[in-house]
Amino acid sequence: MFDSPKEECGVVGITTATDASRLAFFALYALQHRGQESAGLATYNGKINIKTGMGLISQALNEPDIELLEGSYAIGHTRYSTSGSTKIENAQPIKCLVETDEIALSHNGNVINAKSIREELREWGCEFKSSSDSEVILQLLANAPGKDWAEKINYMMNRLQGAYSLTVLTKDGIIGIRDPLGVRPLCLGKIEDGYILASESCAIDHIGGEFIREIDPGEAIFITKDKMKTIFKKETPKLANCVFENIYFARPDSILDEQLVYITRKKMGAQLAIEHPVEADIVIGVPDSAIAAAVGYSEESGIPFTEGLVKNRYVGRTFILPDQRLREVGVRRKLNPLKEIIKDKSIVVVDDSIVRGTTTPFVVDLLRKAGAKKIHLRICAPPIKWPCHFGVDMATRSELLAANKSIDEIQNHIKADSLGYLSVEGLMKTVPKPSNEYCDACFTGKYPIPVQLEMSKFNLE
Ligand code: SF4
Repeated sequence: MFDSPKEECGVVGITTATDASRLAFFALYALQHRGQESAGLATYNGKINIKTGMGLISQALNEPDIELLEGSYAIGHTRYSTSGSTKIENAQPIKCLVETDEIALSHNGNVINAKSIREELREWGCEFKSSSDSEVILQLLANAPGKDWAEKINYMMNRLQGAYSLTVLTKDGIIGIRDPLGVRPLCLGKIEDGYILASESCAIDHIGGEFIREIDPGEAIFITKDKMKTIFKKETPKLANCVFENIYFARPDSILDEQLVYITRKKMGAQLAIEHPVEADIVIGVPDSAIAAAVGYSEESGIPFTEGLVKNRYVGRTFILPDQRLREVGVRRKLNPLKEIIKDKSIVVVDDSIVRGTTTPFVVDLLRKAGAKKIHLRICAPPIKWPCHFGVDMATRSELLAANKSIDEIQNHIKADSLGYLSVEGLMKTVPKPSNEYCDACFTGKYPIPVQLEMSKFNLE
């Protein structure tokens, strides 16, 4: 029910002498924020063994499962559905046969031409068990022409359009693959007796590994216990790193585009203070994703930062709340204001984004009832006007508040005393790479590749 864009997925891959499944399990915990609908692990010990389950990692996997998943190579996945519905058939990793051996795959992203490729693969004789684009990628890779993985990956990259960061489990090791646009992140680390691939570097930290580097867009890297090697690299004339990873998705302790996300977010807050200054007594952030930006706003403006809202991290997934009163209860279950701090203060409230605008009015109301004198809302993302087609479940265009209302109308809707969004130009000043290397389509409508605007996430059902 919270009005942020929905996380996409997290992937890991581990090669190690012992306990690969356990290490992958721990690494996966660091990626729980990227998906809470299902989770799973796969290992190889002469054959592929997979365990998947619905819900959080702690609900989907348990100790006996991990004991049974033997082998030196393991991949894992946390899922939020961006293609296909929330059901166990769509949980990952998934596997299929390549000639006489099985492979398994975990996927983060969204492939926009999956439907037509699936039809073609059906004509080749492939059968599909799920309604996700990830199975299309798996079958395409497994059946691609080519004498080795490099040739198969080249074929796959020439056919797929969209976003895909993959870990692929084979009998000989694990392949990490990042699409040529580089939309979703994937990074490489060293652990004591092997290597790790993960969506975010915080997963490497969690198991005591050492971050080596991000996988390049269009690169495929092969890891075993002893070595890592780039086995394929595609020319990438155009890059489209998702700028929203920096704003919201990635954890602040991850490194993205060679910069700690916490630092990037502080810069966003500072830029917001430059673009939208205001007189106020304190700056607070909506926890957790906007805290770093609130600190940045405070440092730039000189207005003291303080905590003002406490988040209950144990609420878990919540059901759809049908009316206003219950929505308010839903916000209260998750956020509680520090009344003594807020009372009679004029406050700057920094938040990461407004998508549909369904909960922001309740957050403003919560602060108002806690005694805030003035509420100046500052948003780290520019107005979201276009849906995402690259692995984020955002909303349709008709549901996006900023696509249908002016800034003044939005301010009236959320009942803030003032409202300021970070500009696209300002945002691009804060991220580490040049602006032409990022996707900013949800703000500008300029998609890196042509898309069908109102594509349903259920179009493979
Ligand atoms: S449209 Fe937005 S959320 Fe989607 S990939 Fe581009 S920047 Fe990221």
